Amino acid sequence: MAEKRDYYEVLGVSKGATEDEIKKAYRKMAIKYHPDRNPDNKEAEEKFKEAAEAYEVLHDPQKRQQYDQFGFNGPQAGGFGGFGGGGMDMDDIFSMFGDIFGGHGGGFGGFGGFGGGHSGSQQRVYRGSDLRLKVKLSLQEVASGVTKKFKVRKDVTCNHCHGTGAEGGSAAETCPTCHGSGMVSRTVRSVFGMMTTQAECPTCHGEGKVIKNKCKECGGTGTVKGEDVVEINIPAGVEEGMIINVSGKGNAGPHNGIPGDIQVIIEEEKNDTFIRDKQDVIYNLLLDFPTATLGGEVEIPTIDGKRVRLKVEPGTQPGKSVRLRGKGLPAVQGYGHGMGDLIVNMSVFVPKTLSKEERTALESLRGSSNFQGDSTTKKSIFDKFRNYFN
Ligand SMILES: [Zn+2]
Ligand SMILES: [Zn+2]
Repeated sequence: MAEKRDYYEVLGVSKGATEDEIKKAYRKMAIKYHPDRNPDNKEAEEKFKEAAEAYEVLHDPQKRQQYDQFGFNGPQAGGFGGFGGGGMDMDDIFSMFGDIFGGHGGGFGGFGGFGGGHSGSQQRVYRGSDLRLKVKLSLQEVASGVTKKFKVRKDVTCNHCHGTGAEGGSAAETCPTCHGSGMVSRTVRSVFGMMTTQAECPTCHGEGKVIKNKCKECGGTGTVKGEDVVEINIPAGVEEGMIINVSGKGNAGPHNGIPGDIQVIIEEEKNDTFIRDKQDVIYNLLLDFPTATLGGEVEIPTIDGKRVRLKVEPGTQPGKSVRLRGKGLPAVQGYGHGMGDLIVNMSVFVPKTLSKEERTALESLRGSSNFQGDSTTKKSIFDKFRNYFN
């Protein structure tokens, strides 16, 4: 099977096209290549099917998102349901028309009258495969967003033949077997009797052209192994496991086709100071006993590297948490909004060793009624912790 064309390219729409634009584009293609309008035109039929497959994926937000991220190799193995193999039959396509033309598929009979002026043999466009990269980001990089440079090994356009695959300026010739269509008819016996089906041309493997004098450098594909430095902008707020799709930076397409994409998988570095909770950042502050009791001011770190002063109320209990609004992480473009918070969870440090003087001071306080807690209090520290983690 030859490489499939990019779905957006099939419909002639941009990657940012709205649902309405996709619908309109498909409608136009479906009318143009409809079999009633193009009787016995295999090329039109192929285009008709190709457009239907593209529409089937792009008009469904979930399938579209997966396609944007993963290309044809979606997470469901084998591509997009039954469509990955190009095995969509005409009945499937017609059953889809209710959705787009607001009526039943049967209403197409009138098109015969238009006559079929179809364009000449269309060249197949190849798409290079996608590349995957992993990138590990510090919390600071997540907070600010970052541009990373990668040296990638990938298929690049062959300089020797300028991507054509043909040696010394010679040109590819129309395939003598299929006369350029890339397909051959085959008659097979089936339960319905003898049927004619279309199969990929064995001579040109669906390309429609053959290169007699293949390029010595690339062996006729038009691409060679090479290296490229790519710059990838990673937006602020990304999370472990997210995938950033960088369109057109993947492997070069054979025969001057369109390049694949690079998918960048985000990983987070462990941070010794903060714990990330989606857009919020948690900092565990250990207060000394006098400050917790007497109150005071402490300095705490923030993710942008600056330290901020935080007032500690007299009588601060372990388990208290304070929210510093807007000192967390930004939302990734298009997901959520605003800034997260820095949450400071306070606990109190109890020393394990004491000097003689410290011991004397504490001994004198033992038994003082102010130092006696009430273990029966309903709002205990344990409730507070439970509330926080729920
Ligand atoms: Zn070459
Ligand atoms: Zn052929």
